[in-house]
Amino acid sequence: MRFAASIVLLCVVAISSQAEDVRREVRFPDVPGYHTLACDFHMHTVFSDGLVWPTVRVREAWRQGLDAIAITDHVEYRPHKDDISTGHNRPYDLARSGALAENVLLARAVEITRETPPGHFNAIFIDDADLIETPDFVEAIKRANEQGGFVFWNHHEWKGAERGRWLDVHSTLYDNGWLHGMEIANGSSYYPTAHAWCLEKNLTMIGSSDIHAPDLRRENTAAEHRTLTLVFAKERTLDALQQALRKGRTVVWFDDQLIGRASLLTSLFHCCVQVSAPHFRAKNYVMAEIHNLCAADIHLQRRGDVGPSQLTLPALSTSLVRISTDRPDEALQLDYEATNLLVRPASGLPVTLEFAAAGAE
Ligand SMILES: [Zn+2]
Ligand SMILES: [Zn+2]
Repeated sequence: MRFAASIVLLCVVAISSQAEDVRREVRFPDVPGYHTLACDFHMHTVFSDGLVWPTVRVREAWRQGLDAIAITDHVEYRPHKDDISTGHNRPYDLARSGALAENVLLARAVEITRETPPGHFNAIFIDDADLIETPDFVEAIKRANEQGGFVFWNHHEWKGAERGRWLDVHSTLYDNGWLHGMEIANGSSYYPTAHAWCLEKNLTMIGSSDIHAPDLRRENTAAEHRTLTLVFAKERTLDALQQALRKGRTVVWFDDQLIGRASLLTSLFHCCVQVSAPHFRAKNYVMAEIHNLCAADIHLQRRGDVGPSQLTLPALSTSLVRISTDRPDEALQLDYEATNLLVRPASGLPVTLEFAAAGAE
């Protein structure tokens, strides 16, 4: 009896550990010339105000389909320091071997954490986190840059009377070339001002979870996913990732929106959305299939005269569409706005769907 119980227990343990090792891929296709990497460059552990050990962040990242992460514990805010007092490099050093084993790219990083202004800034791809600790804020950012760090301004609308404002201190960083990006989305918040500034000042758009608690998400879908950054890198390496960030090759996946520069979003759209030639041609309409190969639903609003007035292409699905036309054998061009692919605040990406003429497919 005890033997049978042990077998049952072993099976339960085996099944549950197997279930934990399932990776839920973040499905976005590669685009011409680049690998599409799913990245989260903002998260905390018990080494600042987070609630997990650094190795857990790596395992979560693998399970959640991420390619790259940065553990960004606060330099200046360490509520657990009576229990965990050690240098700022320790979270990275603890997580590194697990990251190698689990095929997750891990950048050494910190969150430089000051009252607003100036606010909070992540420095990622640094060499020595301990050297970033200094009373002078501008000096801390300078040191991060001297180490080759990529610096972005976090959640700029969060907390303090002067939140959300671009002040002299920010110009000092920007004019020195020490500020490379901004979070346009952090967790459940989207910042249209930061989005506009990234376009105006050529800063890289970043979306992050800023997760503090364990990530217990069982799904990784269009409706429920981490806020993250898609980075378009020449290779799946830390060097290529850093180069892509410096070139601004990112799209932010926030809620049901994809936010980025028009050229990248256009490229991504055409890799995600594939149109089949009409499989049925009647006298005054055709039937065709549109495939959405990515993890986000895509919402389309008609701009031209042809096609349904609105279309939703659900994630990882095929949609059947009926297109009214007096010339069913001819090629069709349908002009739409992808309303949840934002090229500017509140402004969707113009796209064209092209259906082949009869005999041309
Ligand atoms: Zn912060
Ligand atoms: Zn944070």
